[in-house]
Amino acid sequence: MARPSDLAHSPRDNTLTITWEDGTVSVLPIPYLRAWCPCAGCQGHSNTIAHRPAGADMRAAKLWEVGAYALGRGALGIPEMPTTAWWTWVFALIALDFLYYWFHRWSHEVNFLWASHIVHHQSEEYNLTVALRQSAFQGLFSIWLYLPLALVGVPPLVYVFSSQINTIYQFWIHTRLVKRMGPLEWVLNTPSHHRVHHGADPLYLDRNYAGMLIVWDRWFGSFQEEREEPTYGTTKPLAHWNPLWANFDYWATLIREARSMPRLRDRLQIWFRH
Ligand SMILES: [Zn+2]
Ligand SMILES: [Zn+2]
Ligand SMILES: [Zn+2]
Repeated sequence: MARPSDLAHSPRDNTLTITWEDGTVSVLPIPYLRAWCPCAGCQGHSNTIAHRPAGADMRAAKLWEVGAYALGRGALGIPEMPTTAWWTWVFALIALDFLYYWFHRWSHEVNFLWASHIVHHQSEEYNLTVALRQSAFQGLFSIWLYLPLALVGVPPLVYVFSSQINTIYQFWIHTRLVKRMGPLEWVLNTPSHHRVHHGADPLYLDRNYAGMLIVWDRWFGSFQEEREEPTYGTTKPLAHWNPLWANFDYWATLIREARSMPRLRDRLQIWFRH
């Protein structure tokens, strides 16, 4: 078996170059190595965020999404809202947040969507790294959700802006350090509200799906106020740190369950049930 004869880390390209004894050279992207590393730091379980790259994979997924959106909009040929009007931007921010609420809610209520969203909930700690802990597949489903924005004429540029603001907003609420925020708690999704969302306690299960505005939860009956600090994680904890397992674990459970069912109808229905 060939052993490495030289290792070179290039911070500029974010790669590790391994030269093997037999002369073979491998150039490995650091995010790829991090994804395979089972250590707690790389998998978002530790309290450190310092050595975790903000995710080249996440940026690539975003490009994919925006490309699909622009393409879809072009194909539709529906008139666009003016980029120069302030209300286009405000409308897009609110409409996207509304759609996010429903997509997030279905991600908890529909099995095949939960199979990917579960990755975000497997952490038993609650800190900023949890915000980066996202499923590898979720993007495949979420782009369909934003189709209504394309249909009503939100320009791709405004869509990217709103979607990035929504994502960035949700980053900072993954913290235990901010307790309550006074009257803002009525309108905005806050660390307190989102801690409830990550709680595995019976009172907190399937509550507070909001992205930026908590009003959706208040109006659609899924709101729960934080009483005691939640126990973070899923009701059935994931017993391993391998990111491949984190992404496939629940899919495997669903396939096993489907196969154990005698009736075809049940086998199909399990993917859409809670
Ligand atoms: Zn590591
Ligand atoms: Zn969730
Ligand atoms: Zn979260």
